[in-house]
Amino acid sequence: MDYLLEFKNEFEKCQKSRNIYLFSRGRVALYVILNNLHLQQGDEVLMPGYTCVMVPAAVKAVGLTPKYCDIKPETYNINPNTVLQSITPKTKVLIIQHTYGIPCEITPLLETAKKYKLYVIEDCCHAFGSTYNQQLCGSFGDAAFYSGQWNKPFTTGLGGILTIKDNELAKEIMRYTENEMQQPSWLRNQFLSWQIQLYDLLVNPRSVMLITKIYRLLASLGLVIGSSSREEFLGKIPANYFQSMAPAQAKKGCKEIIKISDRMEHRKILTRFYTGRLKEAGFITHKDPEYVESILLRYPVRVENKNSVLKQAFRRSIEIGSWFESPMHPLETHWDAFNYHPGLCPVAETASDQVINLPLHNKISLNEAQRIIKFLTECAIPVREAGSIHQ
Ligand SMILES: *Cc1c(COP(=O)(O)O)cnc(C)c1O
Repeated sequence: MDYLLEFKNEFEKCQKSRNIYLFSRGRVALYVILNNLHLQQGDEVLMPGYTCVMVPAAVKAVGLTPKYCDIKPETYNINPNTVLQSITPKTKVLIIQHTYGIPCEITPLLETAKKYKLYVIEDCCHAFGSTYNQQLCGSFGDAAFYSGQWNKPFTTGLGGILTIKDNELAKEIMRYTENEMQQPSWLRNQFLSWQIQLYDLLVNPRSVMLITKIYRLLASLGLVIGSSSREEFLGKIPANYFQSMAPAQAKKGCKEIIKISDRMEHRKILTRFYTGRLKEAGFITHKDPEYVESILLRYPVRVENKNSVLKQAFRRSIEIGSWFESPMHPLETHWDAFNYHPGLCPVAETASDQVINLPLHNKISLNEAQRIIKFLTECAIPVREAGSIHQ
């Protein structure tokens, strides 16, 4: 059975995208598209200053310069006005990310991109199924990429997906991947397969905080295949970076993606539940304008005491997420290595200090969601106005 082909077909059915390519991680998908745009060294790529560090890392890896635009406090998405102000003659690419599954302000962003001839890449690592003017996120840009990391809308046990609109460019990329991309070894495929089976067996809402810690430790010792290596937080690209998705990952992807509409429905139910309870407890809640439907990946909540909430959640085995911990998540990132300096994106820096996120995946039952809300009402201090600080 050709799991990669099967997975591509299933993915195409869900996203109705053309020209789909599969990689070992999401960041590799971004690296591949950037590497094939025929840009000059030092050309600039605009992106939100509230992202996963692997985004600017891929930009740097191909010799381009990452430039950060601040976000809007309510949506955690790139501010279209900041984008306009950041454009220089060297700006060639705009990465638009739909943070937490909330679609960014696509209409003004696409207008700007058109006016300044920017190539638009959608970072859909959080957004699967979200719509803007009833059109799916991932279908607006010239290209889009997705991640199959453990905590994304569906997992391939690490993995990445690239989709491209232009057929000519897609052909070039096909040749490029055929010539240059490493195929995973038999051993790597086995390892990934074991990891996925262990994950399915061991990870549940009560164990996930501890298992994540152990997983990171084992990964840093080279005993399991982790999401990132230490050198990547310093701005270096590891050996074996440019790899295809392994069959074991595609196999997991096939299993996951056929359940995606049920999972999306579950996310919506939990989102409504959290919104109701959080509002009662005085937290700021998520609300879409009428032309947007967010399928949230995680529910963002602002608290005054983030570190203490995370510590207590760990102690009590409650699944609470920390992203984004920094404008270039995670905390370990060396800002200097990625052209970021403190104060560049103040709204994003405040968000990083305040936002925790609540799980919406299929292992969270309504009971578990209730337990999470109970925990929050006991331990978390609500921030009452998203834009009140650093504005
Ligand atoms: C996870 C993530 C990525 C990177 O995905 P990998 O598969 O880990 O390379 C990129 N962008 C965002 C917004 C992410 O959350």
